Amino acid sequence: MNGMDDIATPRRTKEIIQRHGFSFKKSLGQNFLIDQNILNKIVDAAGLDSTKGALEIGPGIGALTEKLAQQAGAVTAVEIDQRLIPILEEVLAPYPGVKVHHGDVLKTDLAALFKSNFAGVSKVSVVANLPYYVTTPILMKLLEERLPLENIVVMIQKEVADRMAARPGTKDYGSLSIAVQYYSVPELVCIVPKTVFIPQPNVESAVIRLAVREQPPVVVDDERHFFEVVQASFAQRRKTISNNLKSRFFPNEGRERLDQLLQAAGIDPSRRGETLSIEEYAVLSNLLRKEGIGLN
Ligand code: SAM
Repeated sequence: MNGMDDIATPRRTKEIIQRHGFSFKKSLGQNFLIDQNILNKIVDAAGLDSTKGALEIGPGIGALTEKLAQQAGAVTAVEIDQRLIPILEEVLAPYPGVKVHHGDVLKTDLAALFKSNFAGVSKVSVVANLPYYVTTPILMKLLEERLPLENIVVMIQKEVADRMAARPGTKDYGSLSIAVQYYSVPELVCIVPKTVFIPQPNVESAVIRLAVREQPPVVVDDERHFFEVVQASFAQRRKTISNNLKSRFFPNEGRERLDQLLQAAGIDPSRRGETLSIEEYAVLSNLLRKEGIGLN
């Protein structure tokens, strides 16, 4: 073995996992990257330099972590699988500044971790090849906790990336698009073939960058209420917004009051939820809340 090789070559990845007797766990979304070009594309999209920090979720055997260590001023990686910790210690030995935290990212106090590990850097980006079985909970945790993040650059299922970046009036647009776009500006970086992973996943992948907003793009009086209205509006995609909101908020009444409110918000009651912009949802939610409708 040539110890100076990059980790993410098929040969070196196989050598490391064989020597450690490591077997992939499908249940942990373990599909490791073995392609230098893709790794470089992911890291480049985050715009890191020595004044910035990087949080990696799921470092695996450290292929991406190594690249991050070469570019960022501070790197922390959170890995759930105990079996990978000794491998990471070995592979990252040349980068003693990298901190590996063993744990489930969904149960990790990230605000505390940021305070202790990123105090010396100006901005932090999340950079990761995410475990696909928990993509949405991880991204929503990162966004909803309002961590001081600049970018989130992640490899995810292409189908999920398409939904996150979708515009109103398209088939992919839904409550996930609105939730992600409320907190960030998404941009598709590249589509990724299955062949760059070991083992190969069953689905197509894509790298997406979420530029985290300092302020939401709309003024919402109550965020929980806003997201409840959005969820209700997409409950059944083929129904009109009037029908969906009626089922949720007025199951036993006629539709006159609801349709008047929709019209007062400038929304034709016969439209479908997928045609409304985030601005229209904000106006609608603020109006319904003033009328005491929703989130009792
Ligand atoms: N970064 C490596 C790469 O690109 O080759 C591995 C990426 S692999 C798609 C996902 C990684 O996330 C695995 O190492 C897996 O063990 C880890 N993982 C899965 N669920 C996790 C969780 N809830 N918290 C932290 N890490 C997790």
